[in-house]
Amino acid sequence: MLVRAQVAMVMNLDKCIGCHTCSVTCKNVWTNRRGVEYAWFNDVETKPGIGYPKRWEDQARWKGGWELRGGKLRLRAGGRLRKLATLFFNPELPTLDDYYEPWTYDYETLTTAPVQRHQPVARPASQVTGRPLDLQWGPNWEDDLAGGPEGARLDPNLRDGVEEQVRLEYESAFMFYLPRICEHCLNPSCVASCPSGAMYKREEDGIVLVDQGQCRSWRMCVSGCPYKKVYFNWGTGKAEKCTLCYPRIEAGQPTICSETCVGKIRYLGVVLYDADRVEAAASVPDEKDLLAAQLDLFLDPDDPEVQAAARADGIPDDWLEAATRSPVYALAVTHRVALPLHPEYRTLPMVWYVPPLSPVMSLVEGNGSDADPDDVFPTIDELRIPVEYLANLLTAGDPEPVRLALKRLAAMRGFVRERNLGGEPDA
Ligand code: SF4
Ligand code: SF4
Repeated sequence: MLVRAQVAMVMNLDKCIGCHTCSVTCKNVWTNRRGVEYAWFNDVETKPGIGYPKRWEDQARWKGGWELRGGKLRLRAGGRLRKLATLFFNPELPTLDDYYEPWTYDYETLTTAPVQRHQPVARPASQVTGRPLDLQWGPNWEDDLAGGPEGARLDPNLRDGVEEQVRLEYESAFMFYLPRICEHCLNPSCVASCPSGAMYKREEDGIVLVDQGQCRSWRMCVSGCPYKKVYFNWGTGKAEKCTLCYPRIEAGQPTICSETCVGKIRYLGVVLYDADRVEAAASVPDEKDLLAAQLDLFLDPDDPEVQAAARADGIPDDWLEAATRSPVYALAVTHRVALPLHPEYRTLPMVWYVPPLSPVMSLVEGNGSDADPDDVFPTIDELRIPVEYLANLLTAGDPEPVRLALKRLAAMRGFVRERNLGGEPDA
C-alpha cells in the first residue's frame, strides 16, 4: 500500500442555482488575461445540453478532426486556434467556435445613445460581433435559448431512449446545472499524453498543473483530456488549466469557486488513497465496476493501520487530521450520495457530484426518518429527472448507485421537512 493524499471536491447539484458567480470569480483571478479570453477554468452547463466546449462528452467527435467544407476535406478548426492546430497537426482539438469568441460591448454607443421610445429588438450578439447568427455561442448558451431541447438532442447522456423524456411537452421537460472544473484525476490522461513532461500531478496534494517553462505547445493534453479542461493560451503558446487555486490551498484557504459559491454547493476535502492500486482500478474490464473500483481506492482515514502507513509514506499530521474531517470521504464513501462524473473515461476523476433530486414534493412530504426508503419511495424512477440520464452522466449507465443516492437524499429531505414542519426538536 502506498498512501497518497488528494484534495478533492463534491458538488451538490440540487443546490446549484446557475448564477455563474463561481465562473466569474475564477475568471477574474485566473484567466482575465490576453490569450485566454475564451477559457473558463470553471464553467456551469445546463443539462441536458451540449456543454462547453460544445459536445465535449461526444468523445467520438474528437477522433479525427476533419469535416467537409466547401467541397473539400479540411481540418475542423477555427480562427487563431486553427492556425496553430494546423502547425502541429493535432487535429483532435476543439475549435474556437466550440468554445466561443468572446465579445465586448460598444460602450460608446451604450453611453451616448439618445433616449428612445422602444427597447432594442435586434439580436444583439450578431450586431456586436458581426458574426453569422449560427456561430453565436457561449458557455451555457442553452440557458438563454429558453426553448426546446435543440442542444439536448446532441447530449450523449440521452442514449437508451431517454431522449423521449425530454421532448417538448412541459410535463416531461427537466433541467439542472452542472458546474465543472478540472477533475484533478488520479489517473490523468493529460499528464500521460504530454510529450514534453510539462503536465504533472503533485505528489503532496494531487493537484494537476502545467509547468509553463516545459510546455512546448503540442496540445496533446487538450486532445487527451476527456473532460476538455485544458486550454491553449494563444498569446503565450502554452497550455493552461484549473490549478485548484493551489496558492490558496497552500495557505489553508478554499478555492475561489468554493469560497464565492452562492449556493454553497461545493465541499472541499482531503481524501487518502492507495496509489499502488490506481492502475488496476482504472483498468477493470467492465465499465459498471469502475465506481466500485474507485471507491475501493479510498482509505479510511480513521483506521489506525491506514494512519500508520500514511505517516510512513510522509503524509503530514495536519493532512491526516483534515482527512478525518473530510466531507468528500463522508459523502462519497460513507453515505454513498456523491458519484464521479463519467467514470467510464477511466481517469479516476476527483470532483464528484451529489445527483439532483428535484422531487415531486408529495414524494417526500410526511415521510419520516423511521421509514425504510425502499418502502417510502417506490416511485423514485418517476422523479422529474430520469434516473437513466443521471446514470449515463455519473455511473457509466448503472442506475442502482443513482437510485441509492436519490433514495437517501429523499429520506433526508423528508426527515428534515417533517422535523421542521412538525416543530420537533433537533435530533
Ligand atoms: Fe487532466 Fe483533464 Fe483530468 Fe484535469 S480533468 S486532471 S485536465 S485529464
Ligand atoms: Fe452554482 Fe455556486 Fe456556481 Fe452559483 S456559484 S453557479 S450556485 S456552483
